Amino acid sequence: MLSNSKCNLKNNEDLDLDNYPLVSIIIPTYNEEKTIEEKIKDILRQDYEKDKMEIIVVDSASNDNTVNIAKKLNVKVFQQSERRGKANALNYALKNVNGDIVIITDADSSWETLDTIKKAVIYLKKFGGVTCIKKVRNNSIESTYRDLYNVLRLGESCIYSTPIAHGEFLAFRRGLIESFNEEIGADDSSSSHEISLKGERFVAVNDIICSELVPKEGYIHWRIRRAKHLIQHFSRAIRDINKVKDKGYKKILIIEYYIHLINPWLLIIALSLDLISSFLGNIISLFLIFAFFISLLSSQIRTWVIMQFLLAISQIKNFFNKEIVWKKEKK
Ligand code: GDP
Ligand code: MN
Repeated sequence: MLSNSKCNLKNNEDLDLDNYPLVSIIIPTYNEEKTIEEKIKDILRQDYEKDKMEIIVVDSASNDNTVNIAKKLNVKVFQQSERRGKANALNYALKNVNGDIVIITDADSSWETLDTIKKAVIYLKKFGGVTCIKKVRNNSIESTYRDLYNVLRLGESCIYSTPIAHGEFLAFRRGLIESFNEEIGADDSSSSHEISLKGERFVAVNDIICSELVPKEGYIHWRIRRAKHLIQHFSRAIRDINKVKDKGYKKILIIEYYIHLINPWLLIIALSLDLISSFLGNIISLFLIFAFFISLLSSQIRTWVIMQFLLAISQIKNFFNKEIVWKKEKK
């Protein structure tokens, strides 16, 4: 596990127990009858003053039992009459929260420790927003991908801010986000970018860990949808490059744009050229292709290569459908 210590994100201040801020926790739901009860109970188990927690379920016309289950658990339930996407639902909820701090968390996710809210509140004395790093339990490609990405997120946070936030845990000081961008599937990440644009840091921290259910079926489709959303996010965020004041964050945006939009094509072009020249009998090219396939024995490289192909496919698919409202995969 990468340590925060060298970049010193940790805030050594403790919480003044008489002075807990009111925290509004928003859970967006669409057909979450299987997960919502456990999710709410999980939050109620948190080591935080109960009367300083406002739990809000914002549901977009689920056609299952989600709303009834949530209502029985004595939390606030906001119901939308039709489904217009997660960001739209979050905006609806955001207008009606009372907390000084807002936490967004997906219904099908969980937090590793009972002091998660407490830690976030302490971090938010120093930063504008905070997100978790992610653990994956039931899928090996996703798990390798996450290990790689967690290191990136923590590194970016050390430099200034990470431009990627996770729907499993996204906390910020209210007022820093007026609304979530409804045109981008990655509503969570675009809000982290918005906070950084305002001159506040948005960090991923290694002592707030969350996990989510990875679909059992349709993993590739799920990953492509997520990749499409990130591509939408970085295509949009790069346009703000001249508004960014921090030099480190500027570099981070450019590198992330490169990673998500350019690098996949470079790999595909290089592989294609190498294949053609191998067919034409070039021994060096043949050797390179051989070396490439040998390198795929490493799970890290294999995962990285798979992700490059998925990113390229996602870019093309984005031209046809942005999937702002999506079909839920079986988990
Ligand atoms: P994934 O994590 O990318 O697979 O996306 P999910 O399908 O798990 O959605 C993330 C969270 O947003 C879950 O809690 C969903 O129930 C919720 N969600 C997805 N679409 C909508 C929507 O249109 N309206 C609301 N209110 N919540 C939604
Ligand atoms: Mn999910």
